[in-house]
Amino acid sequence: MPFDRSELELSESAMRAMVEQAMARIVPHIVSLPEQPAQDLLGADELALSLLEPLPQVGTNLESLLDLLFDQAVPKTLNTASPGYLAYIPSGGLFHSAVADLISDSVNRYVGIWAAAPALVQIEANVIRWFCEMVGYPKTAGGILTSGGSIANLTAIIAARVDRLPEDFLKGTLYTSSQAHHSVEKAAVLAGFPARNIRFIETDEHQRIRMNRLAERIAEDRAAGFMPFLLVVNAGTTNTGAVDDLDAAADLAAREGLWLHVDGAYGGFFVLTEKGRRMLHGIQRADSITLDPHKGLALPYGTGSLLVREPRKLRQTHHASADYLQDMQVDEEKIDFSDLSPELTRPFRGLRVWLPMKLHGVGAFGDHLEEKLELARLALDELKTIPGIEIVAKPQLSILAFRLKPQGMDQAGLNELNHRFLERINAPQRIYLTPTMLDECFVLRIALLSFRTHRDRMLVGLEDIRAAAAEILGSVQDP
Ligand SMILES: *Cc1c(COP(=O)(O)O)cnc(C)c1O
Repeated sequence: MPFDRSELELSESAMRAMVEQAMARIVPHIVSLPEQPAQDLLGADELALSLLEPLPQVGTNLESLLDLLFDQAVPKTLNTASPGYLAYIPSGGLFHSAVADLISDSVNRYVGIWAAAPALVQIEANVIRWFCEMVGYPKTAGGILTSGGSIANLTAIIAARVDRLPEDFLKGTLYTSSQAHHSVEKAAVLAGFPARNIRFIETDEHQRIRMNRLAERIAEDRAAGFMPFLLVVNAGTTNTGAVDDLDAAADLAAREGLWLHVDGAYGGFFVLTEKGRRMLHGIQRADSITLDPHKGLALPYGTGSLLVREPRKLRQTHHASADYLQDMQVDEEKIDFSDLSPELTRPFRGLRVWLPMKLHGVGAFGDHLEEKLELARLALDELKTIPGIEIVAKPQLSILAFRLKPQGMDQAGLNELNHRFLERINAPQRIYLTPTMLDECFVLRIALLSFRTHRDRMLVGLEDIRAAAAEILGSVQDP
């Protein structure tokens, strides 16, 4: 075997051919997304099991591997890239970011410390600066890009713990609403707190945290010898898109000396819209904010962010030194991301945000989010005209919840009926909705966030909802 060149080093023509072959599958896939089913999991488990395979000893040609991916594995999924995907929290998948990743991965520079690639680190730092500007943070604010909102919430909770509690922190209690994303509880436990130290405060009829109940609980805990230290509020809950009163939260946090963290993983980027700015007023008063570019900014999965009002509070938690790391910065302008987060080596996440934002400007992203707010209003207006439908949660941003509620049915009956309603809506595969539980009620959600979802698809989906409602109600009335 020759050792002057590894077969892993592709020739120029092999590199070009590889990208061309991949593009020949990617482009038709993207172009046909509107015609593809919004979900298709029929036979997906069997397919998955059939793909169990031993460690490959010899190579396979690219064409057959692309066939496997595009003809078999990719289609048997929830089609999270479809314009009809209105489930959970839709993501994006901007092609620009795929190109950015191709560049990042190909040049494979090291962006964990400033000294290794100053200009590339600056590009990522610019992205963080832009996010800080969007939420109204001062120029001195900072933050990090993470793999997603869960890690951002975890990092925030650890920073708050280190900042506000003694080393022996088990008397520390944290507060959030009963509607908080489950990653908040998971993060608190990972940060070392027993689950019983987490106070889930009840919400009002709009699923917003009850401020008076929160204040009472804090007082009770202090009286019992606990150390309240952190309040996590929602800038858009995952369940129904509820936005807590951020100004009231900031007032209370200031009064009580709590760290205020705003979980804006779903809703934070709506600050780019007029309504969002109004709804999220006060967000800039938070100590830290989670934003998920892979939600609101339409990026591919794997891009979250944590913004902090005072970057030194991330540094005091995450700074570590080692003899083999000689070039760590003391200058605040020259950022070592490894000093602000648990990661040392990290992918160049900045480029996948930077490239589409530079190519289009921020306006395109604001327009996309304005459109989602408008579609949510359209959905609300249309749903109100469908007989038998009850609106359970009006859209505060771009998520709404509803159910079928014929007269004279008990809770269990309604829940069973709405299970069938959901199945019937999803059956034509033109839209895909997922349910949630709200006060023991099984309800259906419409979550609008995909950059590919437009008015035409919303109307098609509403047709399917109308037809499903008529069919299910018909089956109840004359069994
Ligand atoms: C999605 C979401 C999270 C978790 O973010 P990931 O990127 O999935 O890790 C946290 N909070 C809220 C409100 C979310 O919607």
